Amino acid sequence: MKSKIMSRVKTKTKTFKDTADRPLRLWDDLIGFEGVDAKLYSLWAEGRLPQVVIVEGREGIGKKIFMAKLAARFFCQTHTACGHCEGCHGVQQGYSSDMFWLETEGTIKVAEAEALQDYLQYQAQTSPRLAIIIDIETMNDQASNRLLKILEEPPAGVLVLASCNRFDKLLPTIRSRSVRWRVEPPSVVESTALIRSRLSTADMFSDTDILNTLRMFGLSISRTLAHLEKGSADQKAKLDRLRTLLLLPMKGESLRELQDLIKEQGFKAPDLAQFMEVALNQSYRRIMETGRETSLQDFRRIKHWRRVLSQVYRAGGSTKNNLNVQLVAEALLSPTET
Ligand SMILES: [Zn+2]
Repeated sequence: MKSKIMSRVKTKTKTFKDTADRPLRLWDDLIGFEGVDAKLYSLWAEGRLPQVVIVEGREGIGKKIFMAKLAARFFCQTHTACGHCEGCHGVQQGYSSDMFWLETEGTIKVAEAEALQDYLQYQAQTSPRLAIIIDIETMNDQASNRLLKILEEPPAGVLVLASCNRFDKLLPTIRSRSVRWRVEPPSVVESTALIRSRLSTADMFSDTDILNTLRMFGLSISRTLAHLEKGSADQKAKLDRLRTLLLLPMKGESLRELQDLIKEQGFKAPDLAQFMEVALNQSYRRIMETGRETSLQDFRRIKHWRRVLSQVYRAGGSTKNNLNVQLVAEALLSPTET
């Protein structure tokens, strides 16, 4: 009986697949949540933490990673979530036998709530045993009813730690059985820096771009990142095309293609100039890396474009914002001699 339940638990326990390519200490670059995990852990160690805690915070601020770090506090050999010991690795891989990690793609259904219940009832009576529930508000009514029994009277030594975006959207019965722990999102400056460090094409975005996107997505770091990455995949394809074009003689076919590319992008002048700069920098890097035989010719073309760009900047005065898109395009699109 027991082994059957254990194997069921195993299939329900999630690992951090989406962060598998990141370093093992996946909470290393967690920002915000200052000292919250240490605080909650020490409350537990002093026997002052209630058995059901719901961490509430805005969507996309890193609550899931925070929950992993919090769980690691309990199993880490030094209770510091060091990231290196066996206890921490167990949490990172999601295989710790003293932890049930409940996380689903969509709705949390009754079968999952049952699996959690089974786990808590039949698991060896070790302490602490953690039940982690990610996005508890995604639980459907049946699952909630099932879970209420656990929340009403959790077995001894069990700690239920759940996360949610909005505590006030939870069922009153769940709210009344738990303690709400609110975490504030990190500052926009911290968020911007974090997003920049994670973007694969960070040089394509200014801090203002990132900040505006962040505001557009209600300060959600993960949604901002997803949006910028998606946009940058598109931009990247165009940059690749532009980079190739810039190394061709600017006449006939290649000139027309460059004109089309610029027209279709609907650039503002400073963006166009910046776009060209990025493409040139990338071309330069690529030549240095591959050591192509034609590099002398390529270097000449890059030099040509740099000269054109500096003329454009000079004509626009000292600030990039004075650039006129028509002038920039004309300067960039005048046929080259090579
Ligand atoms: Zn550790």
